[in-house]
Amino acid sequence: MSNKFFRERIQQAIYDPILQTALDNNSERRLKGRAAAFTSIPDWPERRQRAHRIRAEVIEHLDKYLEQFIAHNEANGVIVHRAKDAAEAVNIVLDIARLNSAKLFAKSKSMVSEEIELNHALEKEGIRPIETDLGEYIVQLRHERPSHIITPAAHLTRQQVAQLFHEKVGIPYTEDIPTLTATARRILREIFLTADIGLSGVNFGVAETGGLCIVTNEGNGRMVTSIPKTHIALMGMERLAPNLDDLALLLSLLPRSATGQKLTVYTQILHKPMPGQTRHLVILDNGRSKLRNSPLKESLYCIRCGACLNACPVFRELGGHAYIGRDQSIAPYPGPIGSVISPGLLGENFVHLAQASSLCGACKDACPVDIDLPKMLTRVRAGAASRDRGSANSDGAGLTRSTKFFLKIYTRLATQPKLFAISQKLASLGTHLLSPRSQWMPLPAFTGWGYSKDLPRFAGKTFRERFVPKPGMDSEDFKPRSEKTTATSGDVAVQAGNNLERFTSELAALSGHVHLTNDPTRAVIEFLNSRGIRKIYLQPAVLNENLLRQTGIEFTHEPDPQITVGVTKAWAGLADTGSVLEADDELLGSLLPEIHITVLKSSTILPSLPDAVQLASGKNAVFITGPSRTADIEMTLTIGVHGPKEIHVFVDDSKSG
Ligand code: SF4
Repeated sequence: MSNKFFRERIQQAIYDPILQTALDNNSERRLKGRAAAFTSIPDWPERRQRAHRIRAEVIEHLDKYLEQFIAHNEANGVIVHRAKDAAEAVNIVLDIARLNSAKLFAKSKSMVSEEIELNHALEKEGIRPIETDLGEYIVQLRHERPSHIITPAAHLTRQQVAQLFHEKVGIPYTEDIPTLTATARRILREIFLTADIGLSGVNFGVAETGGLCIVTNEGNGRMVTSIPKTHIALMGMERLAPNLDDLALLLSLLPRSATGQKLTVYTQILHKPMPGQTRHLVILDNGRSKLRNSPLKESLYCIRCGACLNACPVFRELGGHAYIGRDQSIAPYPGPIGSVISPGLLGENFVHLAQASSLCGACKDACPVDIDLPKMLTRVRAGAASRDRGSANSDGAGLTRSTKFFLKIYTRLATQPKLFAISQKLASLGTHLLSPRSQWMPLPAFTGWGYSKDLPRFAGKTFRERFVPKPGMDSEDFKPRSEKTTATSGDVAVQAGNNLERFTSELAALSGHVHLTNDPTRAVIEFLNSRGIRKIYLQPAVLNENLLRQTGIEFTHEPDPQITVGVTKAWAGLADTGSVLEADDELLGSLLPEIHITVLKSSTILPSLPDAVQLASGKNAVFITGPSRTADIEMTLTIGVHGPKEIHVFVDDSKSG
């Protein structure tokens, strides 16, 4: 069922030229970036199927994995809370805030926080929640919800952001994106340093170790999880990976699908609270258990990459703010996946959103975990239609008996190829007659979509009839997931090539710098002299400190806000992404200064993430992939948002290296 407000919002969005310009910028660049990023993993179809199986396994045995995950977190010193619904989660956070007499929260991006409307509840208690992701900060200044799960300000142009900063932050009007970004950096740095509590989401929890994986490009995730004395991590109960190897596989797909990157700039894997810190983990149900036992279960496989939003022709015209409920509130999750989980988690208010799809299948094709979104959307529609006829019951995330009956018939047909082929023919005839283009349906505007959208022509022949296998395809491509060959780990090209060479070229492509040397201390001194830098932060036992003293370079192991260069040690490098793996708690060296120097032994450059991920087990570790970056304003890449503007990797190629 559709609703009046939803239809009105659709009309507004379609006829808003500024919104259309902003949306075109976002989706076109995201789609191109995603396509380019996947070329470096030619085995991506296999990875996708493995990812599907991993997520299916987690959801199937969720209780077991949750139990394991919670036990490890408690052993790691994390205080774990379970919240059955939004109200309970909000109360847990408020209790922690009261306990700490907190007045200021520094928040990094969390869709769960949006889902439970946490900011509103904090403000009612007199607590200031400040969003620190640039896009989230912008929409918070406008008192809006994010319009996209990855790019919160995707609906805005640079002129709108410029005007906003002029009015709300008090800077002279400028459309210069680096200036706008630097302004946010200056304001938010103060927030990180003075916040009572840091609050983050969790991209993945690792059941086997209790690890919390948090990915951010700007570095705000690292700030909020490390600097405040109290950190609260908010996660949906389904966001688990069984172990670190599975995490590595999921991480090879998430950033490529989300932002077109091989790896997000800061990929943290946290196991223990930072020294002197208390960490709380709030695990939210809020309808997930019910969804898990419903025909919409597969929607819980989602890893929140946003690719289905960018691919969806409907979302690309409307943007996220058109996805509104009957009460006119904006859905926390828009787009194809949002049209399934918003009603699935939050109920009837959003059930009509499932109409906002042409069922073209672009969302399924884009999904890195191969969720059958068109199937999910038709199930929501079927449930809504049945309820409209007054046959609702409360079983299975709102699905009705008649829907279940329909699904049973569908399952019988789908498992018998001949019957399925006949049913497709009949369905094709039926839909042709009912198509708005058909002579039998003279009123194409009955849903609201007909005003501006042509429905696709129905194919004369079914897919199976038209399908001609490509050379090289074999019966393996048609086997069910469970029977397919297991994919290999690592990038095939990397395994054959030279790790150091690949590492250097990958980092250079991200504006990072590699300095090959047999004597890292002398090479760093030379670099510092060339820049006229006389004082640095130095992680202990990385460089020859006597030599630094002799050459007049001052160093400290303590915090010093005047310092612009930090020097740290890398545990390992990744050839296929140009990343370095380091201790996450070395913020003074690797995040706060404008220039980050790290020393890496050439022998520790490994081909790919799966080869290095076990090094993070039980530790607080971070994979750093280039300098801090954002593309939150008009998708324009800007370097140095919250973290360093430059990263220099001094690769020690001496015998001992
Ligand atoms: S449904 Fe798939 S494509 Fe959409 S956000 Fe989730 S994982 Fe990404």
